Amino acid sequence: MILYRLICVEGHEFESWFKDSAAYDAQSARGAVACPFCQSAKVSKAVMAPNILRGDRLSQSSGGSDVALLDEQHAALRAMIRELREKIVTATEDVGDKFPDEARRIQDGESQARAIRGRASFEEAKALLEEGIEILPIPGLLGDGN
Ligand SMILES: [Zn+2]
Repeated sequence: MILYRLICVEGHEFESWFKDSAAYDAQSARGAVACPFCQSAKVSKAVMAPNILRGDRLSQSSGGSDVALLDEQHAALRAMIRELREKIVTATEDVGDKFPDEARRIQDGESQARAIRGRASFEEAKALLEEGIEILPIPGLLGDGN
């Protein structure tokens, strides 16, 4: 279904649902779309309303203040990011805020070489990269609590 905002020759604006744009075109062509105020069949599309209802579900991100409508491609991408995060979390040791220090110690051979994860500010991460320490930002998820 598609919602069109329509306007008649008298300037009356109204909204009407159509099966699709072709259905609107067909009904409009045979004068079947009439203004509810003055019954004029001389109507045309005003600015199209952005709410196109799909036949299938509309998914929303869970929780958080950021709400996004996701199409299937984005939902798949989101699942991939979640999977990647889980793999990283499983394979690394969480050193929290000590991440930049610990990364340097590992690089300098002062700490046992291992995969770690933690938090670093943008500036800290930039500094580590400039020192030749290979780090990888973990993609975040909206409403993930992280
Ligand atoms: Zn009218």
